[in-house]
Amino acid sequence: MIKVCKFGGTSMADGINMRRVAKLVQGDPARRYIVVSAPGKRFGGDEKVTDLLYEAHRSLVENGSLGEPFARVTARFQRIADELFLDMDIEGLLRNTEEEILRERSEEFTASRGEYLAGRIMAALLSVPFIDARDVIRFDGEGRFDPVSYTLLRERLQGEKSAVIAGFYGADAAGRVRTFSRGGSDVSGAIVARAAGADVYENWTDVSGFLACDPRIVQSPVGIKRLSYRELRELSYMGANVLHSESIFPVREADIPIHILNTFRPEDEGTRILPTQRYLAETKRPRTVTGIAGKKNFTVIFLEKSLMNAEIGFTYKLMEVLVRHRISFEHLPSGIDTMSLVIDSEQLKNGALEELERDIDAAVRPDRMSVTSDIALIAVVGHGMAKSVGTSARLFAAIANAGVNVRMIDQGSSELNIIVGVDNANYERTLRAVYDEFFHKT
Ligand code: ASP
Repeated sequence: MIKVCKFGGTSMADGINMRRVAKLVQGDPARRYIVVSAPGKRFGGDEKVTDLLYEAHRSLVENGSLGEPFARVTARFQRIADELFLDMDIEGLLRNTEEEILRERSEEFTASRGEYLAGRIMAALLSVPFIDARDVIRFDGEGRFDPVSYTLLRERLQGEKSAVIAGFYGADAAGRVRTFSRGGSDVSGAIVARAAGADVYENWTDVSGFLACDPRIVQSPVGIKRLSYRELRELSYMGANVLHSESIFPVREADIPIHILNTFRPEDEGTRILPTQRYLAETKRPRTVTGIAGKKNFTVIFLEKSLMNAEIGFTYKLMEVLVRHRISFEHLPSGIDTMSLVIDSEQLKNGALEELERDIDAAVRPDRMSVTSDIALIAVVGHGMAKSVGTSARLFAAIANAGVNVRMIDQGSSELNIIVGVDNANYERTLRAVYDEFFHKT
């Protein structure tokens, strides 16, 4: 049995928490490969080491020195080492790290040092080898993950019964450090799980798994005990941010289940995320709705043109414009003579929307084009929806009863989700109404 365990920022936040992590690891011999994040917040209002490192880089570029933010990073690690009474030359390690940061002068290199240092300390605490992700996780020239990493990692892991691997970063073929997007240690953990042929990828965090809705909006939502990979992808993409939304891909290819667990309440059941086929086979009666998630700030570009359905290449021309503008879209609900493009508003700032509108108009000559900004999307997700009659009737009745006007509807082709667009201002109210309908009335 091999378990790959990833511990998040809160679990690594100070010496006491790191010792807790060590106890969990040592309590189960299957927990062989440990992937760590950089130290996160110790209390509300505290700073994450990674944020400080980004600030330090900015200070280097603007003022020529790593300044106060880096001093705070070194103080954090010094304190952790003191709390753990480690027999390691932490001053020397911090000094070398600073010198390397000044030599490399790269934002990604600087940002990666939180994981590097946390990994070195955790390896010393557990008395197991440290594997530098720079040697085993490879990025291609465009900064994307390169699957050759699986071979590199596999070869390296074969030689080690157990090890600590730093999360969040790797390097390109020339050895330059590259990072995943924020929260990317989850992705590193999934990659290591796949390379190690793990039986399970344990993702240890500071909550007891996924909740059926955002607890900042709905009071005490129920926990989700089981999810399928596909449900996870939908929910985490739409803002349920327990796990990085890309962490699923490496483990999915190898059918490795993910288990979300709480470092501070290890006895809690957490959430098990299973390969979709296995989930469907094992879950006799799936709930109609497994979870609800959402995000604000989308823009909908609505197009209408008579006989759109018969026009060969309409969508092709539209897509061509998007490719030229390097804009991705989230949804494309369409009718016979209508089509809507749903785009994350972040991509349309600083005049980008106006340019896009102009080019769409020239390329597809719609009869009518209108743009609505400030739209929130809400995803109602669950395999059970395909089987239960009347789910959408219940959903839309609940939204209507809350006095909210639906601006857009898209049902994923898998019948796994229904996406509803409402005005940003109605986001919270809609989430509460939908949650009440499917979790309080069943
Ligand atoms: N430390 C990185 C971040 O704060 C990556 C991670 O924790 O997963 O984004």
